[in-house]
Amino acid sequence: MVNHLNRKIRYLSTRGGMAPRSFTEILVDGLAPDGGLSVPEVCPVVSNEELTAWRGLSYRQLAYEVIRRFVDDVPPDDLRSLVDRTYTAEIFGSDAIAPVRPLTSGVWLLGLSNGPTLAFKDIAMQFLGNLFEYVLDRQGTWLNIVGATSGDTGSSAEYALRGKRNVRVFMLSPFGKMSAFQAAQMYSLQDPNIYNIAVRGVFDDCQDLVKQMSADADFKARYRIGTVNSINWARIIAQIVYYFSAYFAVTQHNKQQVSFAVPTGNFGNVCAGHIARQMGLPIRRLILATNENNVLAEFFATGRYRVRPPSQVFRTSSPSMDISKASNFERFVYDAVGHDPAQVRTLWQSVEQTGAFDVSQETWYQNIDRFGFVSGTSTHADRLATIRQVWKQQGVMIDTHTADGLKVGLEYQEEGVPLICEETAQPIKFEHTLQEALGCVPARPAGFERLEELPQRYTVIDPSMDEVKAILKAAVAP
Ligand SMILES: *Cc1c(COP(=O)(O)O)cnc(C)c1O
Repeated sequence: MVNHLNRKIRYLSTRGGMAPRSFTEILVDGLAPDGGLSVPEVCPVVSNEELTAWRGLSYRQLAYEVIRRFVDDVPPDDLRSLVDRTYTAEIFGSDAIAPVRPLTSGVWLLGLSNGPTLAFKDIAMQFLGNLFEYVLDRQGTWLNIVGATSGDTGSSAEYALRGKRNVRVFMLSPFGKMSAFQAAQMYSLQDPNIYNIAVRGVFDDCQDLVKQMSADADFKARYRIGTVNSINWARIIAQIVYYFSAYFAVTQHNKQQVSFAVPTGNFGNVCAGHIARQMGLPIRRLILATNENNVLAEFFATGRYRVRPPSQVFRTSSPSMDISKASNFERFVYDAVGHDPAQVRTLWQSVEQTGAFDVSQETWYQNIDRFGFVSGTSTHADRLATIRQVWKQQGVMIDTHTADGLKVGLEYQEEGVPLICEETAQPIKFEHTLQEALGCVPARPAGFERLEELPQRYTVIDPSMDEVKAILKAAVAP
């Protein structure tokens, strides 16, 4: 099949070592075989006429139009049906899916956290769940998803894959280290294809176990182990959609520009914004906000990318942005160096050997402004102040991650350019910090009132590979 330009859509590795593959071929893979990330050979471009035509579309229609620019090996009717089943008012609270509301003059909040787990990852993960089920069905095969979570990603994956055919989820979480709300969200799931594995240890122990398992090629192949982590390309393309829908919501014609403020961790969300901009969406600035773990703000300010060892990763009150490295960043660098895999290979070799690279003297870094990125850091004190300020002035409660984005976003606000701040989680998920900031906690949304009282289902283990494998083997055995 061919796309509207009569060109096949093919995916390559950022490091150049992968024969071209189709979308469904890269769908269930983690890294490319050469350690790089998969990227489309050509970024689709949306013409001014198309942009105008898209203005009138519903979120579902828009999602189909955007996603099909990246997918040519799922028949159009099937793709449309997958999109239509995913983006419903039942799952996301309203047909707007990602509603935009005004905050102050020229500033808007883009609601990305109205899905089942109240965090923005649902927008991509719900689509991925349906897509996995469909593709595995078609291939007549099955998959065991193994992942580690410190909170949001795990629950979002579980809610997306619960009850799905041909797939089981084994999610490792640090026993006793998540908030009661987060733990209850995951552990209360009773679906037989969901396996919650509570590890006596910290998040790094969980992640090490998953890495160890991924390195065991025999076991991985025999038990058909897959992942749904943030480098999954299908997640990125599902996230491109709301950049378009939000743009249409706050502009009247395509000559207008907007800026987005994006609370950033693994660079997945803002990577989608970058691609939307490359496609031709009139985005002026992508305002990248980090918390104290400011790996990316440091890069954009200095040209130095410096991965943090686990001992230097701060545990903050915006925990979903507590990263040591930014997994999707390599996709942006691939674009920035002009799609030259040799340069990407050299840079990441340097990361592997020295934990860093410095491109401050490179021409491509000196011209990086053309990609529209600006960045800044927000601290715990900034979060508290921002949460208080919008509560006092607008009567709106925002969560800690959204506060990071808003704080940095306002620093870059420009006259006449709408500023769209992404709301990536509901404040209820971070009650403890809201209490600290406001002296009260947000009301629970319907359906979440007695979450912690529901019966829970999980297995506690020591951080041991043998124990994880035993659970997997027992689940797979007929
Ligand atoms: C995952 C997450 C982020 C960071 O998104 P990235 O795609 O990793 O940059 C921000 N806020 C919340 C609430 C999240 O769950």
